[in-house]
Amino acid sequence: MSWKDGPSAFPHLMHHPSGVGGATGSGAHGDGSDSYYKEKLRMQGGEAHGGGAGPRGAAGQQGNVGTWNGPAPKGQGIAPRHAQDNPEIPAGCVQVSHEPDSIILPGGVRMPLVGLGTFRMTDPGDVKRAVELGYRHLDCARIYGNEAMVGEGLKEYLQSGPEARSSLWITSKVWNDAHRPAEVVKSVNATLADLGCGYLDLLLIHWPDAWVPGGQEEPDSSVTIQETYTAMERLVDEGRVRFLGVSNFGLAQVEDVLSWCKHKPIVNQIELHPMLPQRKLVGVSLRKGVHSVAYSPLGHGVSKELLEHPVVTKVAKETGKSNAQVLLKWNVQRGVAVIPKATGEAHLRENIEGMFDWKLTWDQKSALDELEKTDPKRFVDPAFHQWEDAETGGAAKPSLVFGL
Ligand code: NAP
Repeated sequence: MSWKDGPSAFPHLMHHPSGVGGATGSGAHGDGSDSYYKEKLRMQGGEAHGGGAGPRGAAGQQGNVGTWNGPAPKGQGIAPRHAQDNPEIPAGCVQVSHEPDSIILPGGVRMPLVGLGTFRMTDPGDVKRAVELGYRHLDCARIYGNEAMVGEGLKEYLQSGPEARSSLWITSKVWNDAHRPAEVVKSVNATLADLGCGYLDLLLIHWPDAWVPGGQEEPDSSVTIQETYTAMERLVDEGRVRFLGVSNFGLAQVEDVLSWCKHKPIVNQIELHPMLPQRKLVGVSLRKGVHSVAYSPLGHGVSKELLEHPVVTKVAKETGKSNAQVLLKWNVQRGVAVIPKATGEAHLRENIEGMFDWKLTWDQKSALDELEKTDPKRFVDPAFHQWEDAETGGAAKPSLVFGL
């Protein structure tokens, strides 16, 4: 699939119902109709780059900021003609035989699209149950202070056979006070000992903010991201980690790593849900081979603002799915992996079961997309971190290039 593939290429990443082109909902054009080709020509004529609400950085930014910066794919803004967008199909979700359940990485390695977040998890029984229910992707971090608990939950499965370890995708992260190269090694040693999994599939820099080891959030100017990442690359060379990535990085920060790294970051783990879609960061990163993994896809558990939003509830009713399933599908359908944290069989089951045999319709996805404008929200916003401007990085903004 490439940009040349026309309207059906990347609709999951690119479309925005209120964005360029102004198409809303299905039926913006018919097969071979004049209006379709006129619309296409108009898009190619430059309007494809203009205005419209796009991605945002911090919650609260609105208007024209975050307009897609790269070359617009042909047909951007035109509703795609997927089976589920056929107006003759009555309301409800679309049943499909098989949706992708993993992201294919270099070397054909697969990262499951649905994983288990482990922040605030305390019961190894939940981890064990998750694996029994089919979870094969676990998101851990040194700072969560529970990697030994996760290891306990995984123990029985890991001992169940020679294929067990290779069937799992295990991520961990180095915390802010472990950015110095020696601390990176210490952190990963401790993680591997606690998880008991031999090696990590993915190691991330948790935040681009370095603190003095053991200190109280005291910024550490003695270490650079490049030094931290290079120490992580040595762990790849030693076979202790398979892939590297970052978390909470802006686009310019991702591009900086790409400019000097030896082992490319394959993931940027960031907060993603309809209230914070971060389209530009997701889209441009993907074109550079960096996949986005969505943390807090259900709203971080602090409030029900997202999970019980009336639009989410409406789409859930239409599809016959739960609110959580609708939110997870919104990301998964655009090729973004999700790592919801859940405890108890009901939530664990709901977040993975039956995720790959249905789709949101264009109209349902469009309705959810509106939340970016009506209810923008970033749930994880620690005081220590300064978010990079959403316009930074990527190709130059057309309005700057053309002086518009
Ligand atoms: P989240 O996954 O968006 O939300 C978790 C909350 O949703 C919990 O309260 C959970 O309750 C509830 N929940 C789960 N499934 C549900 C369902 N089917 N129906 C209703 N409620 C449901 O929040 P998160 O923990 O912030 O994010 C997920 C993971 O992302 C974390 O665990 C962590 O691994 C990662 N993360 C990474 C960063 C980073 O900086 N890289 C930051 C934040 C999070 P129960 O526990 O009762 O099921």
